[in-house]
Amino acid sequence: MPTFEASLEFAQSLDQTDILFPFRERFHFPQHNGKDVHYFCGNSLGLQPKSVGYLMEKELADWAAHGVEGHFRAALPWFSYHHFFSERLAKLVGAHKDEVVAMNTLTVNLHLLMMSFYRPTNGRYKIIMEAGAFPSDQYAIETQVRMHGYEPDDAIIEISPRYGAHIIEEEDILNAIAGVGDELALVIMGGVNYYTGQFFDMARITEAAHQVGAYAGFDLAHAVGNIPMKLHDWQVDFACWCSYKYLNSGPGGVGGIFVHEKWGNDPSFFRLAGWWGNEETNRFKMKKGFVPQKGAASWQMSNAPVFNMVAHNAALDIYEKAGMTALKEKSILLTGYLEYLLGQVTNLSFVVITPKDPARRGCQISMLFNDRGREVFDKLTEAGVVADWREPNVIRVAPVPLYNTFEDVYRLYEVLKNMEADLTPSAFGAN
Ligand SMILES: *Cc1c(COP(=O)(O)O)cnc(C)c1O
Repeated sequence: MPTFEASLEFAQSLDQTDILFPFRERFHFPQHNGKDVHYFCGNSLGLQPKSVGYLMEKELADWAAHGVEGHFRAALPWFSYHHFFSERLAKLVGAHKDEVVAMNTLTVNLHLLMMSFYRPTNGRYKIIMEAGAFPSDQYAIETQVRMHGYEPDDAIIEISPRYGAHIIEEEDILNAIAGVGDELALVIMGGVNYYTGQFFDMARITEAAHQVGAYAGFDLAHAVGNIPMKLHDWQVDFACWCSYKYLNSGPGGVGGIFVHEKWGNDPSFFRLAGWWGNEETNRFKMKKGFVPQKGAASWQMSNAPVFNMVAHNAALDIYEKAGMTALKEKSILLTGYLEYLLGQVTNLSFVVITPKDPARRGCQISMLFNDRGREVFDKLTEAGVVADWREPNVIRVAPVPLYNTFEDVYRLYEVLKNMEADLTPSAFGAN
């Protein structure tokens, strides 16, 4: 890390040497008092690429011009639409092309993958997950366990931070896996915990799970487009993600899955079926008997939600141009600068609960306030700084390398710093 300074000039000088700075121009920013907001919610809903509108109109025109023939005659034929994403998604998560597919949405995909990877038997039915996982994941796992006739209290083992700590010790996960041993069916964790921003060591967790004969899967909602990964080499069994956070593909945007080729290329490995997952040459032959196509694409059920995927296509193009390597480099610097500036704030009472080690986090900082968290959050909003409030007392801030600037980060700091005067009660009244 360079030596940082808490000044606007310094922040602007970092922007001037930032090769990714021009990418900001490719996005629409919400407005506040006639100016772009300082947007730190890319981990909740990414901004709209300006190219989406044009591409959407093109797709509408293809539908108007071709009707049903658009399946083959559209500029991007709908019959093959999911193929257009494989290469770019594979790069983002470190997979082979056949190991990924864009389909459905995140929680739906989590259920579908658990239908394949959580097939408990009497002796092996337990699941290890992180405590405080995103509620949707908790509900999915709870109901999967019930569906198989087990009690969540018995079957689900949650790993918590140690007493007084905020992040989970990786060692505790590994020890729990070894401890549960051959009763363990599945380890399922967030790649990055949505609340603290902690990035888990997927390779080590997967290895430990495999050692006791369990599968390992990850929810990459907060990892994809944030942290470079190597799912294939790490031997991860499966993963799923959404595209509307760091991938900027719009609300309810199409999700994605990874299935390791060990399983994806094995036609006898169980998956729930639909016509879109069938062997493609026979897709329209309406024959009896499901024959899965190769790879993750065989988990598809329905035909591709094309209009939903238009935004995904536009957004992934931008990622491709920026490149994960440059993004990660800037991410470390930008988040590092935010962390430095927060360290200069002495008037407010909060702790950063995100790991300090850049290798253990992405572009998110979570601040846990003792008090006044909500007041701080409201002040930020009034100043045109869009952050994210999580009950009971956490403000999450995501400086996204694709469109946030060092000046954005400085402006956020400025609001916090200037609250000093507002919040410090004067002992003698006004002078
Ligand atoms: C955002 C998010 C979800 C949301 O799921 P959807 O099915 O896309 O609504 C689920 N899990 C995690 C960890 C998330 O961060």
